Amino acid sequence: MQLAKRMGRLGTETAFEVAALVGKLRLQGKDIITFGLGEPNFDTPMNIKKACIKALNDNQTHYTTSNGILPLRQAIAKTAGAFRGMEYDADEVVVAPGAKPILFNAIMALVDEGDEVIYPNPGYPIYESMANFVGAKSIALPLWEKNGFSFDVEVLKKLVNKKTKMIVLNSPQNPTGGVLSKKDLEEIAKLAKEFNVWILTDEVYGKILYDDKFVSIASLPGMKERTIVVDGFSKTYAMTGWRLGYGLMPKELAPFIAKLETNANSCTNAFVQHAGVEAINGDQSEAEKMVVEFKKRRDLIVKLLNEIKGFKCQMPKGAFYAFPNVTEACKNLGLKDSKALQAFLLDKAGIAVLSRTYFGPKNVGENDEYIRLSYVSSEDDINKGVARMKKAIEGK
Ligand code: PMP
Repeated sequence: MQLAKRMGRLGTETAFEVAALVGKLRLQGKDIITFGLGEPNFDTPMNIKKACIKALNDNQTHYTTSNGILPLRQAIAKTAGAFRGMEYDADEVVVAPGAKPILFNAIMALVDEGDEVIYPNPGYPIYESMANFVGAKSIALPLWEKNGFSFDVEVLKKLVNKKTKMIVLNSPQNPTGGVLSKKDLEEIAKLAKEFNVWILTDEVYGKILYDDKFVSIASLPGMKERTIVVDGFSKTYAMTGWRLGYGLMPKELAPFIAKLETNANSCTNAFVQHAGVEAINGDQSEAEKMVVEFKKRRDLIVKLLNEIKGFKCQMPKGAFYAFPNVTEACKNLGLKDSKALQAFLLDKAGIAVLSRTYFGPKNVGENDEYIRLSYVSSEDDINKGVARMKKAIEGK
């Protein structure tokens, strides 16, 4: 089949392939515990589901404007703005079927062929994929374990130049759980202003932050006008399958992001948008409980992982991922890399994890091996699953 050339440049999120494999193995009767996809095991809170059913019964089943219904954009502007200590207007909000389309649209709308896009590595694979897809040059900014997987601003300074069109940030970060400090954000902001660069900041884990106070780069002086904030409902409200997200951006940019929505989706599902209004304006206690629960799970999984011979795991500050260094374990088992360890764990322990390779190519000078475990499963599964890993790895 003769596909368009650009398809050769499109990457993907291969975590979904592991999810499909887990499903297949389970159908064959295999007992698999998965730490694969980043999908909370909680149910969507009942008040949100009820609002959706009501919207359906009220026949909210028609097209909406491409940028989203006004009550939802107003609710987002108010609360997402307040969360960041900022003021946004409904015209600075675009609703989309998930956070992902905002990433897609922002890169489509702002990045030209030949431009440079800096993205964190290891990182969520869609940034690199999209930058390459539009014909830009994707430039990896290495994140190092020794820096708590934060940005090394000195390295960033060397990468930014007049061809840089965009810097992608993701804090708290997938897959490392790293968080950018206010000081780092200030340095990044200074560079962005100096080189006239767009910031695309993926803040889908902004509320899943355990100790620090959340800071958005958009709230720093002179940054709102050059920043697109990406956020959504998938993680905060356990709504991954609903497909609801949004972007906060300059008023002049919003119609173009919405125009891409008109071309691709016409609009976001109408009754889902009404449920979104309830998610934001309604009782927040379920969402808050989830974060308390994630914190317990984080403490548990990190403790258990550090008890496995050859594993070394930092305490992630946010999101719901543990990212242990497994170099010694690979060596002890005679395995070439984290990909081989992933296969070993699935085969010998019935445990699904994702290897470092799912989050971008290794950086120059990166000699260690890592895996990502998403601790969205129950404490029971974490106890059982990590015990099974330990037994398979230590052979006891
Ligand atoms: N950004 C990051 C960093 C993510 O981890 C994910 C989901 N895994 C998304 C965006 C996509 O979110 P959504 O489901 O709202 O499209």
